[in-house]
Amino acid sequence: MPNFSLPDSVFTRAAEQFPTPFHLYDEQGIRENARLLNKAFAWCPSFREYFAVKALPNPAILRILKEEGCGLDCSSATELTLAKACGFSGEEVILSANAMPPEEFAQARALGAFINLDDISDIDLLRDNGGIPETVCVRYNPGGQFSIGNTIMGNPGEAKYGMTDAQLPEALERLAGLGAKAFGLHAFLSSNTTDENYFPALAGTLFRLGKKLAGETGLRFAFADLSGGVGIPYRPEQKKTDILAVGEGVRRVYEEVFPEGGVGIKTELGRWMTGPFGWLVTRAVHEKKIYRDYIGVDASAVNLIRPAMYGAYHHITVCGKRDMPADHVYDVTGSLCENNDKFAVERPLPEIRLGDLLVIHDTGAHGSAMGYNYNGRLRGAEVLHQADGTDRLIRRAERAEDYFATLDIDPAAKALGLE
Ligand SMILES: *Cc1c(COP(=O)(O)O)cnc(C)c1O
Repeated sequence: MPNFSLPDSVFTRAAEQFPTPFHLYDEQGIRENARLLNKAFAWCPSFREYFAVKALPNPAILRILKEEGCGLDCSSATELTLAKACGFSGEEVILSANAMPPEEFAQARALGAFINLDDISDIDLLRDNGGIPETVCVRYNPGGQFSIGNTIMGNPGEAKYGMTDAQLPEALERLAGLGAKAFGLHAFLSSNTTDENYFPALAGTLFRLGKKLAGETGLRFAFADLSGGVGIPYRPEQKKTDILAVGEGVRRVYEEVFPEGGVGIKTELGRWMTGPFGWLVTRAVHEKKIYRDYIGVDASAVNLIRPAMYGAYHHITVCGKRDMPADHVYDVTGSLCENNDKFAVERPLPEIRLGDLLVIHDTGAHGSAMGYNYNGRLRGAEVLHQADGTDRLIRRAERAEDYFATLDIDPAAKALGLE
């Protein structure tokens, strides 16, 4: 079930201080959750979580995670710049390549980051843009379907990422020829899964393959990178992933394959790290009754695109009405001229009055970060509910001049307020 740890008073107090809509993040929740992950893998001394920056690229959050011992997983020049600005460097950063401009390799190498190569053709690009490091990670795609028992967890055969079984030995031999001494092995085979067997099954695959490839190539197998994909319970009937059980499951496979130890483990969790610790706070500003009952709110898909993009479920509560019966059925919509701009469709909720504060749950990952500007709508603010109970603005809401900024080359620049 979604995270109900904050009382409504936190949201109402924040909404008195900051105009809606905004995402509010719970510092204490993020810290305790990060500690739990580190506890789950404490048996592996070189374990490190590299938070997937794309999930919540806010410096205040990244610094909190740094204090909790996390590194960062970056996939673009701007994410690398953000990582550096927040004090991350060297082995605290991984760059995951993915059809990116080659200069980004050089930028990551200058930072001393680990490089995770997506394709065999990336080897020459890395050689020419920053050089081949002593330890280099390669991304694996086993193809076909990835199943645990009878359950299909993902379709790597349709995914654009990684290298095939046949390419991996060739890639590693080439890297060895260019001076690499050790390698990591990375794979991301299932997204948003709450199945506690996912990481243990993935780890088993990577551990065994890494051991075999080390034997074949003479390179040392330095680490397995289990990447992201551990899910969160967006729906009330779903249960939370027991991360301690996940860590224990990975330990069992580890001890079976590497009784002598010596191989590291990394993760790049995004959603699991911050998803349940963010809420989109928005106000009911319109009501209309046609063939259905609609509540219009001051947030829209530009603040949270997951429902529009994936049909994703996000739980909604109405401040002050948590204990009232959900005896009204609403579509909760934003203001975009786009009919998929709905946070909820035919959702039973308590009766909503104009001015009510609605809280959309689990927006702490892939929420604000996926924002966009359709219809000239501006992205909202981000607020940190700090461990001491006070609230702090950690990203201001966009203003019109931000939206117009790239038009400073247009003759209308002055009329747009740009000079
Ligand atoms: C998106 C991504 C992640 C994080 O995924 P979550 O589902 O948020 O855990 C980690 N690693 C890579 C390479 C990614 O692209």
